Amino acid sequence: MMKISEHVLCAFCRLERRVYTKKSVGWTNVLKAALAAVLLMFIIWQRIEPRAVIFFAIFLAMAEVFIRLRWRMSLPCPHCAFDPLLYKVDREETVRRVITKLNQVRADGRHLFKTQNPLEHLPFVHKNSNDGLRGQGPAAKPSAKTENRILSRQV
Ligand SMILES: [Zn+2]
Repeated sequence: MMKISEHVLCAFCRLERRVYTKKSVGWTNVLKAALAAVLLMFIIWQRIEPRAVIFFAIFLAMAEVFIRLRWRMSLPCPHCAFDPLLYKVDREETVRRVITKLNQVRADGRHLFKTQNPLEHLPFVHKNSNDGLRGQGPAAKPSAKTENRILSRQV
């Protein structure tokens, strides 16, 4: 059976988290929807009834909506709230959410006792009068391999 989720590294805070890779219904879902429709047909009418196709369509639509929502909701990082999909369309909103989340984490203080601390791997950013904002520190320049792994697995 195909894996529906996998562990990836967050592109922003570099912590590991789980994302769902399955975005849409597969053949197993179609089969399950058909079986459920047939079962419901025999429970309601006790014979073969063409109206059962409606149940099949409803079950399939529900499965599609559920799988879509599950995939979309697993994308934002639970540690730093970085959302790779939102980042593609609205960078400012992504930054606002990450700042809000990290401020919450700082104010909370519980991150100090956790093994997964989102503040631990953040790049140091300082203002340089010559060339504006520049990333520094160990996390500022990930290897090409790491970067590929992070980016390709998230969207
Ligand atoms: Zn993160």
